[in-house]
Amino acid sequence: KEVANILGVSFATRAFDDTVTHLVDRVREGKWTHVVTANPEIVMLARKQSGFQTLLDQAYVVPDGIGIVYAAKWSGEPIRERVTGVELLEALMAEADKQQWNVYLLGASPEVISLAAEKLSQRFPGARLVGYRDGYFQRDEEQAIVQEIAEKQPHLLFVAMGAPRQDEWIAAYRDQLNATLAMGVGGSLDVIAG
Ligand code: UDP
Repeated sequence: KEVANILGVSFATRAFDDTVTHLVDRVREGKWTHVVTANPEIVMLARKQSGFQTLLDQAYVVPDGIGIVYAAKWSGEPIRERVTGVELLEALMAEADKQQWNVYLLGASPEVISLAAEKLSQRFPGARLVGYRDGYFQRDEEQAIVQEIAEKQPHLLFVAMGAPRQDEWIAAYRDQLNATLAMGVGGSLDVIAG
C-alpha cells in the first residue's frame, strides 16, 4: 500500500531511501511536488481546518515525528519509518549536487539563512544555489519574492517559516513559483546553520 491513513490524513508509506528515490524521479520528470513533513500537530490541524486538509490531500505527506509512526503501528497502517525534514533536505541536496539542480532557500532569520546558504554551498558545491531570502517579510513584499523565485526556476525550493505557515505559503503560490519540488522544512535551516 502506497498510502497510510492516519486520522484522515494520507501519508506516503515509503521508507526513507525509497522516498528520496521517488522524489528525485519526480524532479527529473519535471512533476510538481509539494512535500509536507507532518507530525501529530499537523494531523490535528487538518481535522480542525478543512482548508488544511485539502492542502494535505494535494501534497506528498511524509511521516515526521515518531508519534505518526506509533499511530500507524497501532492502527495497522504500513508506515515504515520516520522521514524528517532535515534528513530529506540533505538527501535532496546531495542529488542537487550531482545533477547541478537549482536550489532556492526561503525562510529563517537573515543571519541563519545566509549562514545556512554558505554551509550548504560548501557541502554541496555542485548544487546551484540560485537565491535565498529570510522569512521575515511584509505581505506587500510577497509578490516580489514569488517573482524572484519564479525567475530562478528552482528544481528545489525549501521554505523554513514553521508549520503550517510554510506549507500554506507554498500552496498559495504553487502555480506561480516555477519550482519543481517545494518542501516546508521548519527549523532545519537553523540546524544546518549550527
Ligand atoms: N520563521 C520565519 N518567519 C517567521 C517565523 C518563523 O522565517 O515569520 C522561521 C524561524 O526563523 C525558523 C523557522 O521559521 O527558522 C521555524 O522553525 P520552527 O522550529 O518554529 O518550525 P517547526 O519545525 O516547529 O515547524
